[in-house]
Amino acid sequence: MLFDTHCHLNFKVFDNMVEEVVGAARNNGVNHMVVVGTDERTSFKAVEIAEKYKGIYAAIGVHPHHAYKLNQKIDSVGEFIPTFAKASVGKPASAACPSKSLLDMTKWDRDPFLLDTYFLEKLITSKKVVAIGEVGIDKHEYQKTKYTDYKVDENFVEGQKKLFNEQIKIALQYNKSLIIHNRRAREDVLEILTEVWDKKMEHKTVFHCCEPDKKLLQFAKDHKIFIGINGDVTYYKEKQVFVKNIPLEFLVLETDSPYLMPRLHASFAEVASATKAEQGFGGQAEPLQKPNEPKNIKLINNFIARLVGETEEKIAEVTTNNAKTLFGIFPG
Ligand SMILES: [Zn+2]
Ligand SMILES: [Zn+2]
Repeated sequence: MLFDTHCHLNFKVFDNMVEEVVGAARNNGVNHMVVVGTDERTSFKAVEIAEKYKGIYAAIGVHPHHAYKLNQKIDSVGEFIPTFAKASVGKPASAACPSKSLLDMTKWDRDPFLLDTYFLEKLITSKKVVAIGEVGIDKHEYQKTKYTDYKVDENFVEGQKKLFNEQIKIALQYNKSLIIHNRRAREDVLEILTEVWDKKMEHKTVFHCCEPDKKLLQFAKDHKIFIGINGDVTYYKEKQVFVKNIPLEFLVLETDSPYLMPRLHASFAEVASATKAEQGFGGQAEPLQKPNEPKNIKLINNFIARLVGETEEKIAEVTTNNAKTLFGIFPG
């Protein structure tokens, strides 16, 4: 049995394919998946998918990338009101809120940044929601983005931090796990985590798509944070070295599908010699059919097993049990 701790079956590329993709995953032994939200729309969709399938769970959250729109000038209040409440713009706050007891309406006047997290408290009541995520800090300058004039500046990073902090609070308040996205922002992420750390977060937090970094690994070990490894380990040499240093008790697998397609090699010997020669593996890759899917957890599992010198069964068992601990899924 295998567990994909991070996939985006809620993304448009999988529209009308979910049934098929879930079937293919199960045929490859991937019986558990967490579908991860990145904004309001994809979080709703994650819950919708999770509620339909056994073994599928949802994480809900606002990705740091989407803090960008919160950074842009506020023209009208309406723009920041979550979809579920939009119909009630202008009406008394209580009418705008479908589950009044869950939401602290006084926040409406306090900080427009926080309005974007309101939907979380609506969705969090679903039994299939196991985590808040993906949330964190991302300083990468994306070339492809829906935001015009996108640029990573101090103001944007401040907005990301605020959003991250708020969502950690919600995870703690509702006793949910936390999926952390970090890209080129190690210091900021570790600073925030150090500030807000609560023992409750031990074994309930994951550095998803973890950068191969000693400091992150040490922090993870000290705070009992899981490390998510995905398909780029099949061609990213530094990550291969990194994986060998992760104690198995902290390792979980993820595809981050539709992204990060693993690459296949003719044989593992080929990979090993390429590693020794400090070459990339791109040239030897066999193309897999896009998009990346949860079924490819099997390839990642088997690749890691050979890399660290354990059996495929052992890695599957350990990482699945770790993932169940991470998301509090027992029995199952
Ligand atoms: Zn991510
Ligand atoms: Zn993701």
